Order: sequence, then structure tokens, then C-alpha cells
Amino acid sequence: MKILIDPQTINRRISQLGRQITADYAGRDLVIVGVLKGSVIFLADLTRQIEIPHELGFVHASSYRGESTTSGSLTLSIEALPPVAGRDVLLLDDIFDTGRTLAGLLTAIAAHQPRSIKTGTLLWKQGRALVQFAPDYHGFQIPDEFVVGYGLDYNDRFRHLPYIGIWEAGTLEATSA
Ligand code: IMP
Ligand code: MG
Repeated sequence: MKILIDPQTINRRISQLGRQITADYAGRDLVIVGVLKGSVIFLADLTRQIEIPHELGFVHASSYRGESTTSGSLTLSIEALPPVAGRDVLLLDDIFDTGRTLAGLLTAIAAHQPRSIKTGTLLWKQGRALVQFAPDYHGFQIPDEFVVGYGLDYNDRFRHLPYIGIWEAGTLEATSA
């Protein structure tokens, strides 16, 4: 698999994001909401770089893809969302691709009347957006390639890889272990 972003580069960038979020949310009642499952590794590393108290919560999103890598119909669930009324929500996902997942979740969470709501993603895929907003925080802009690792999956595999790799049909099985 071709490595697009190596672990050291990811860690350095997440430290920067942690410092930025620490400064931006000082004195606020921050709730970080991760989108399962893709955000889990990013969230686990980022939360430990944020030096102000904050609560963690989770929502779930899946777009049915089958064997393909194109976006399908979207299923969202926010049953596990902690109370957010009057609080400052930062919604975290692994990647901003078309933006439809975050757009749907923003609408659903906004109905619970947080004081503010922003979005952050590790990756931001260029030239794919189908929505009118961009993530408030992002780690890296990437080209329009299908990527896996560091939480991102292909058919629920490869989330554990410590780097972001470009999915290449054929070579995948050989490198997966
Ligand atoms: P969006 O709704 O089109 O922005 O897609 C966001 C979701 O699609 C993410 O939460 C990912 O689960 C998935 N996704 C989009 N692009 C990729 C990719 O390159 N690799 C793995 N998952 C992706
Ligand atoms: Mg996914």
C-alpha cells in the first residue's frame, strides 16, 4: 500500500490541532462528539492533546457502500449523544468527502440546541463537496483517492493501520496482514 501520510506527520498535526482547540475553547463547556466508527483513532489521539476539560460522546453514521468505494445512502443515529443543550459541540469525523455525513449530523444535533456546533476532520478530500460548508478544523487536505488506515476503512478493514494509505486494488491483500 502506498503511504500518503506517515504516523509521525499525523501525530505532529494532531498536536497542533489540540493546541488550537485548547485555545479556541478555553472557558467553554466543550463536548467532543465522534462519528463512529471512523473517528475513533483520530478522536483518541486528539482528546489527549486538548488541555481543557471536555466531555466525549458518540454518534453513528454509515453510508451503505457494499463492495464499492462510492458514497451510498446514509444512515444516522444520535441516540448516544450526551446532553448538548447550551454547550459547545465539536463534531469529529475521519474524513470530509462529499460532506453529506456531517451535514446530516449537524442538522440532527442542532435540533438539541447546543450553544455552538463546529466540525473537525482528520482529512479533507479536495473537489468532492456536495454541501455548502467546509470543516472548521482539518488535519490534511488530500487528493481524490480512496484512503484507508488510522480509522478509515475499506469494508470495515484496515482501520488499524498507523498511517494513511492509498487503497490500491490487488496489492491490498498482500499488505494487509
Ligand atoms: P461524506 O459523507 O461523503 O463526506 O463521507 C464521509 C464518510 O465516507 C466518512 O465518514 C468515511 O466513512 C467515508 N469515506 C469517504 N471517503 C473515504 C475514503 O477515501 N476512505 C475511507 N472512507 C471514506
Ligand atoms: Mg467509514
